[in-house]
Amino acid sequence: MRDKQSSRDFQHKKSLGQNFCINPNLCDSLIELLAPADNATIWEIGPGKGALSEKIIEKTDDYLLFEIDERLKEDLEKIASPDRIIFGDFLKTDFSKLPKPANDFYICGNLPYCSATHIITQILESSLNPRRLVFLLQEEVAVKAAASVNEKEYGYLSVHRAFFAKAQTGKKFSPENFIPKPKVMSKLLALEPLLLTQEEKKERIEVLKKVSVLFTQRRKMVLPRLKKGFPNTDFADRFISMNLSPEARPENISPEQYLLLFKKSGE
Ligand code: SAM
Repeated sequence: MRDKQSSRDFQHKKSLGQNFCINPNLCDSLIELLAPADNATIWEIGPGKGALSEKIIEKTDDYLLFEIDERLKEDLEKIASPDRIIFGDFLKTDFSKLPKPANDFYICGNLPYCSATHIITQILESSLNPRRLVFLLQEEVAVKAAASVNEKEYGYLSVHRAFFAKAQTGKKFSPENFIPKPKVMSKLLALEPLLLTQEEKKERIEVLKKVSVLFTQRRKMVLPRLKKGFPNTDFADRFISMNLSPEARPENISPEQYLLLFKKSGE
């Protein structure tokens, strides 16, 4: 692992979520949860100074590191092959220009807090189809992504995640494990994408547009809003046939029920 002094000397950019890991056990826990097959393809988002990358490179030669900050080039090239480091914004990557990943394909990273949700939703909606994803996230985000219907943390992010993947949270880590120390706790999140065609993904993305509007007013009853927004669909009938209370709020409707509610024949 890169020495702590080198992490302290670096001018960290808060805007890029640069909180570097200084605890090798944390990286081991992430790899344990990722459980990659032998010689798998592993992509890491945001390698920083390479704390996690070192562990990935021990597991496979078939890796790619995506880092936005070119100031980290010298550090990363000490541990990784230059042709396996891609400098640029992961969110703007054209995946079709990259070598096609093997069947055993995994994505992981200690994600920048600022863009973690965006990175996860983009991967899940894409045609990448990794076998498993494991990320270290702000604890609150990991818990929200994994939450089930009627739980306090259940919201749009939980529905989005459930439309594309099964989730499991892992160990929790305190700010002392990073330089500089973040203000919040961190937690591991493992995602196992569902086997969906691109067509099915597209349909789910369409449904999510409606779900996101409902969650902007999470305390309001859903049925009256749907009746008003979509007068040509008999949502009252759909609520009855789905055994949904006419007083249900967005947080009382499960991901499966959202899919049924907005199934193609309706709105
Ligand atoms: N993996 C390292 C570790 O655990 O020490 C660094 C993790 S740090 C929380 C997040 C890293 O993501 C930083 O190196 C940052 O520069 C990089 N980063 C931020 N936004 C990015 C983006 N859009 N695309 C690629 N890398 C990004």
